[in-house]
Amino acid sequence: MTLNVKKIAVLTSGGDSPGMNAALRSVVRTCAYYHVQCVGIYRGYQGMIEGDFKELNARSVNNIVNKGGTILKSARSQEFRTTEGREKAHENLKEHGIEAFVVIGGDGSFTGAMIFNEEYGFPVMGIPGTIDNDIYGTNFTLGFDTALNTVVEAIDKIRDTASSHNRLFFVEVMGRDVGHIALNAGVGAGAEEILIPEEDLGLGRLLESLKRSKLSGKSSSIVVVAEGDKIGKNVFELKEYVEENMPDYDVRVSVLGHMQRGGSPSCFDRVLASRMGVKAVESILEGKTNYMVGVVNNKMALTPLEKAIKGHSSIDTELLRVSDIMTT
Ligand code: ATP
Repeated sequence: MTLNVKKIAVLTSGGDSPGMNAALRSVVRTCAYYHVQCVGIYRGYQGMIEGDFKELNARSVNNIVNKGGTILKSARSQEFRTTEGREKAHENLKEHGIEAFVVIGGDGSFTGAMIFNEEYGFPVMGIPGTIDNDIYGTNFTLGFDTALNTVVEAIDKIRDTASSHNRLFFVEVMGRDVGHIALNAGVGAGAEEILIPEEDLGLGRLLESLKRSKLSGKSSSIVVVAEGDKIGKNVFELKEYVEENMPDYDVRVSVLGHMQRGGSPSCFDRVLASRMGVKAVESILEGKTNYMVGVVNNKMALTPLEKAIKGHSSIDTELLRVSDIMTT
């Protein structure tokens, strides 16, 4: 290992996700292990521009492995999108003797890091923190597993009321333009239908499927809808459509919203965060830069930031098939 880097900074950027604190803890402790100084940057790139820095040691990150959100705070910075903003950020990093940074965030945060690296040749490393699991180069992003558990728990509760009142529930879940949360949580919670952007079921087939399900003896149904699904304009219009065509069904909508981004990270996310933090710091110390750390087939892997940003994270076709069989 080439130990020529003496000071590494770490920041959380973009939307928060469970596991960010565990990743921060891992970066800080790995730095301590290799006798590298570590600096926490508050409020993402905006804090980098404003010099909102704090030295962190192994004890600064006690008791955060289990905490949701991010103790460093996160932010979206318009100023970092400008060359002047990035210049200020670079000045601050230089002034503090920082020689590399690890950014925990999504593809926007990685784009910022990549541009910064291009402009200043500054070593950067990304850790994917988003519940949507929509990043190429890793099978799992930080927070995805926790969000799935949150969604499954919520749907289990909704099912209690759905079955007590013979209701049909449309449950909208997060996921932006991809259906990873909807597909996985839908299978896990035993949903009757799962609507995801990757597969166009069509309104006609949805009705057919709901009618079939009713005929087969089911008195209540849960339909999980990914927020990016295009079958209806939105989940409330879907409800109206089904009510018009199946008047005997009592239809309700539940939009789970931001609760999916919060909460204590699952064990899986804590372990993943710990592995990613170690890999990020060790890779910097090995002289690598401009990569995102990921896990592929349970092995740590590095993907160039550009590929991680431009690549497409595709849906698991085997799980789609399982879902089709389960919803028979
Ligand atoms: P999420 O998954 O929650 O959206 P994200 O990291 O993709 O997370 P963004 O808001 O897209 O979130 O990006 C976070 C920050 O990264 C932005 O506020 C901005 O400061 C920086 N950033 C994004 N795109 C660019 C860009 N093209 N140039 C410079 N900086 C950028």
